[in-house]
Amino acid sequence: MTMPMKLYVGDILRLKKTHPCGGAEWEVLRTGMDFRVKCLKCGHSVMISRVKLEKDIKKVLKSMGGDVAAPPEQDQ
Ligand SMILES: [Zn+2]
Repeated sequence: MTMPMKLYVGDILRLKKTHPCGGAEWEVLRTGMDFRVKCLKCGHSVMISRVKLEKDIKKVLKSMGGDVAAPPEQDQ
């Protein structure tokens, strides 16, 4: 069992796969079964499946789920 990665809108990711423009850093614009990520270098956004994206992540540079700008936690 592998833990699903916690990814949030606004996260900055460094992927193994680079955009044709050469950028390797991406911002998460939309989460779900499919993610939309924006290339930080040229500003283009692409759709990518969660499975594929998780495999491509080299490093999470900024996580909205971390200490930085963490959303308020609520017990549900
Ligand atoms: Zn690009």
